[in-house]
Amino acid sequence: MADAMTAHSPLIDQFGRRISYLRLSVTDRCDLRCSYCMAEQPDFLPRAELLTIEELERLSLAFIARGVRKIRVTGGEPLVRRNVMQLFRKLGEQLGHGLDELTLTTNATQLDKYAADLAAAGVRRVNISLDSLEPDTFARITRRGNLAAVLRGIDAAQAAGLKVKLNTVALKHENASQIPALAEWAHGRGIDLTLIEVMPLGETGEDRFDQYIPLPAIRDQLEQRFTLKDVGRSDDLGGPARYADVAETGGRIGFITPLTNNFCSGCNRVRVTCTGRIYMCLGQDDHIDLRALMRHHLRDDKALQNALDQAMRAKPERHDFAISASGAEPAVARPMSMTGG
Ligand code: SAM
Ligand code: SF4
Repeated sequence: MADAMTAHSPLIDQFGRRISYLRLSVTDRCDLRCSYCMAEQPDFLPRAELLTIEELERLSLAFIARGVRKIRVTGGEPLVRRNVMQLFRKLGEQLGHGLDELTLTTNATQLDKYAADLAAAGVRRVNISLDSLEPDTFARITRRGNLAAVLRGIDAAQAAGLKVKLNTVALKHENASQIPALAEWAHGRGIDLTLIEVMPLGETGEDRFDQYIPLPAIRDQLEQRFTLKDVGRSDDLGGPARYADVAETGGRIGFITPLTNNFCSGCNRVRVTCTGRIYMCLGQDDHIDLRALMRHHLRDDKALQNALDQAMRAKPERHDFAISASGAEPAVARPMSMTGG
């Protein structure tokens, strides 16, 4: 297994971007079925296809050895993966030894059970996806979700001392009109809100054209109620969000605009799926199978490290999404729950 402190050259792609951020998917499964993310009856992968917890740890250490300083555990829903806390505890041991931040993105349905253990493992911040505070809208978007469980999860996270950020996908007919109220609610609890344009990833059984609303339209709506002052790019450098402070609430709103405003020039991240494929870009199909390499070379990470170099040479300059016509094909066939959001 790689020693995270071994001196290796940093991961720098052909456009000079330094990769310091890994998004690691631990499962493609989820207890919700958000209508923009996955089909109502998805074909989940057989469990045998997934990386084991030990393999996820080994892979993470290989990235830390190459200068990755932040790992976000995601999915699917990371908290439905069996023994996921074992991974958090192991990766938490790397904090201060190459790793600066360990975090996760979750739908929070089970967060009340895990918040305290996550904090004990060294997690300090958590991104929670919540698209509506209206129980009916929430149930419709998630096709099965119970809003009360998510709100309990948010309470538990804050009680455990975790800094919470909300992620909300803007959906033309479902929640667009509710976003100012959602911002007010979040800011009232000391939670910042990041809005995301729906991306054409995977077949979900829904027409993206029907769901998509450009964020500039949401911003106009917010500005009818609030005074927004732009504060520029994300605090963690290379992040895709542009932020604005809201004078009336004292909170902050982020705008992630993969469609209306491409942000790839500052990209500092790669994604690894729960089956060990590294994707250099969310919006492209190019990938390398790290699982096969790890299983073939059980004790030696040389081949794995070479594959990371190969990934750097292959990382594309940018994605190119568009949702321009009803019934259009998705930009890539795999859904966000496969790549790791
Ligand atoms: N299940 C966890 C959750 O929902 O937070 C983590 C995985 S989820 C795939 C990560 C993020 O991707 C969520 O904030 C979700 O809203 C977002 N997402 C999923 N599909 C998307 C799409 N097609 N376009 C934009 N965002 C999407
Ligand atoms: Fe599950 Fe997250 Fe996808 Fe919703 S967005 S279906 S919670 S993986």
